[in-house]
Amino acid sequence: MPGFESIVDQEKPVRLLSNIIQKGKIPHALLFTGIEGVGKRKAANIFAMACNCLAATFPNQLFSDQSNDHAEKERPSSPCGVCKSCRKIISGNHPDVISIQPEKAHIRIGQIRDLCRMLVMKPYEARYRMVIISDAHTLNPEAGNAMLKALEEPPDRTVLVLTAHHLHDLLPTIASRCQHIRFNPISHDALTDVLVTKEGVPAQEADLLATLAKGSLTRALSLVASGWIEQREWILRLIGKESLGQSPIDRVTTLLAFSEKLAQEKDRLENALEILKIWFRDLMVYPLSPDRVVNKDLSQTLKQLSEKTKTDDLILAYDAIQLAQKKISGNANPRLTLDVMMMKLTEFNHEKSRRHPI
Ligand SMILES: [Zn+2]
Repeated sequence: MPGFESIVDQEKPVRLLSNIIQKGKIPHALLFTGIEGVGKRKAANIFAMACNCLAATFPNQLFSDQSNDHAEKERPSSPCGVCKSCRKIISGNHPDVISIQPEKAHIRIGQIRDLCRMLVMKPYEARYRMVIISDAHTLNPEAGNAMLKALEEPPDRTVLVLTAHHLHDLLPTIASRCQHIRFNPISHDALTDVLVTKEGVPAQEADLLATLAKGSLTRALSLVASGWIEQREWILRLIGKESLGQSPIDRVTTLLAFSEKLAQEKDRLENALEILKIWFRDLMVYPLSPDRVVNKDLSQTLKQLSEKTKTDDLILAYDAIQLAQKKISGNANPRLTLDVMMMKLTEFNHEKSRRHPI
């Protein structure tokens, strides 16, 4: 059952939170900062469980017949995970664990007003009511000011847990009222280990996906779920082997057909462009520093292709992909954008790296 030990590679935050629980001195507001997917939200939920776990007693419990000193020694630092309160929090059904998340990229004033109305009332059944405000950096200014009020006059038996990417993303007046706990990006080794032991990913692929995940467990798991390795094979086959050796006209036809397929698969488009970009980056990096390529498992192919390709052409290809990514994230028409990108990619081939006017 998930306790603090289930949070991957966050030794310091876990130690701080466990200490808070063991001492029984629960702050009114906590701020968890760190990039997406490092366990902030999970830690907030486990902290909510630990504060309310029926297997532990707290100094402010009137019904506790233990002295505070005794309770401090006996109190476990992690929740039991099986009591009624823990189970309600795990299933998302605890009436006093309130979650606020951005709606269309922002947390709005209406959401904070509703929250403040709720906080006027006493907690329904919890020892500590928990309000988890995810991505607090998306509080718009009005909502931020309303939030400040709740922080200045903290309601009884209520803990506000804010999560954000960076401390400086928040209003200083909000950040200064919270106990700050920083979550670091997860180490490459810890991510690889999770992918191998929990997801059954082969070691070499896990190493590659951990590099791409850049410290985020959520990203690593979504790369596995989206079949990143299979997508890469598909893409490289289409831009590489199948079109190499074709006449320029055939190559254009192949790549435009590829562009059509990609444009139809909006969910995979973002990943696909990233795969292409990393591939061309690797071709540029390989001659300089072969150890620093991302696609390490394809080192041999990278070596062969990079020897046959001019760096100038690779830079043009890389720029074309980057431009397409930017346009698509800015809501440009995917099909047209991809067609333009593919046309640029057809202007050279690996065999001779010679421009083919089309
Ligand atoms: Zn429990």
